[in-house]
Amino acid sequence: MFQKILIANRGEIALRIQRACRELGIPTVAVHSTADAEAMHVRLADESVCIGPPAARDSYLNVAAILSAAAVTGADAIHPGYGFLSENAAFADMVEAHGLTFIGPSADHIRMMGDKIAAKTAMAGLGVPLVPGSDGEVSDLDEAAKIADAIGYPVLIKAAAGGGGRGMKVAASPDSLEEAWRVARGEARAAFGNDAVYIEKYLDRPRHIELQVMADSYGNVVHFGERDCSLQRRHQKVLEEAGSPALSAAQRDAIGATVTAGLARLGYRNAGTLEFLYQDGQFSFIEMNTRLQVEHPVTEMVCGIDLVREQIRIAAGQKLGYAQSDITFSGHAIECRINAEDPDTFMPTPGRVSAFHAPGGLGVRVDSALYAGYMVPPYYDSMVAKLIVHAPTRAEAIARMRRSLAEFAVLGIKTTLPLHQRIIEDPQFQSGDYTIHWLERFVAGGAHPTAA
Ligand code: ADP
Repeated sequence: MFQKILIANRGEIALRIQRACRELGIPTVAVHSTADAEAMHVRLADESVCIGPPAARDSYLNVAAILSAAAVTGADAIHPGYGFLSENAAFADMVEAHGLTFIGPSADHIRMMGDKIAAKTAMAGLGVPLVPGSDGEVSDLDEAAKIADAIGYPVLIKAAAGGGGRGMKVAASPDSLEEAWRVARGEARAAFGNDAVYIEKYLDRPRHIELQVMADSYGNVVHFGERDCSLQRRHQKVLEEAGSPALSAAQRDAIGATVTAGLARLGYRNAGTLEFLYQDGQFSFIEMNTRLQVEHPVTEMVCGIDLVREQIRIAAGQKLGYAQSDITFSGHAIECRINAEDPDTFMPTPGRVSAFHAPGGLGVRVDSALYAGYMVPPYYDSMVAKLIVHAPTRAEAIARMRRSLAEFAVLGIKTTLPLHQRIIEDPQFQSGDYTIHWLERFVAGGAHPTAA
């Protein structure tokens, strides 16, 4: 097992990883920017190292500073969390080249899945169903028009290097193809320095359903069931559930069997998530994330398993130690992502938190690095807390979320807590009958939207 783990991240996920390390008896090293000197992840770590000025490119993305911090503190493994360097294959290579362990998949698999075209090609070869679309990169507009005609409008132009919903544009008809093509490539070039794009059929009413997998270094692969992440705004997840209100146990088992068999053939290792669109009973793969996800706690709640602990154990060369049949699903879990944003305009609201009170009680979990007096810095992602509830049924989980949201007090800054209160009161959300487009319409509907 590792002697000391450096956590190359900040905020709630740095705390989350520290908690797993502490339960395993492993000391932790926090790294932080000058803006985060007072942050909770620094206060709670065994040791901390300042790695640079506020801008992420100078600190949390500063590979040399992070590797130096590991060297001076004697850490023998690095956990990247999510975001920042977590899906950076060159970083994973460099960590290993310095004799440290990267807690995650191999650099080759990170590289493969980071290129969405390569990922789709690999998955097709493993028998995983895809969204209909181009066979790889589309390099000119004429070819794009031919493919779009063949699969039928509307189509989506997507960046091969895409992430965070950027470099993605819908063309509703042949008239709008050129514009979508130009904008998607321009965004992809600006955001990722790579303007390679591909085309997919734009599905009009899918759900986003993803599967959590875990694999050890000995060819054992299991899945921990699905998460429904259909509630999105601008392609960003807002609220997630496990299990999906739309999926039966038999459907979960079937897609799970396809995916685990495929990943075993690929020789995949550590945690991963396969994201699918699900419409008319069909799963269509869109991408694979080679890291821990923000929404992993809903899976932990229904499976009763610590996914970060599993990541660390596997990276240390241990076996999974259980089979798919040992994994059971109990009850229902919901996560609300609480952002430091105006709940109506979604403008970020950095500033000082004057008071903080987290809800508690049976089946309630709060993953957050906030505290009273903390200054939310303007430099990083606006998510400041995750409120997760677990209950025997979905209806009871909604009731538990309602009372937990009412107990949650974050004063001094605006947050998206009121948005979540509105969502869970909506009859259509409560019915479980929603698609990836539902939340955009709900938000556009103003303060008292009706189900649509
Ligand atoms: P990113 O890596 O930028 O997050 P994804 O490929 O994961 O991009 O897609 C993000 C979201 O965009 C999905 O969850 C879904 O809401 C929407 N989306 C992606 N592909 C399609 C598609 N073919 N049809 C309709 N919506 C899509």
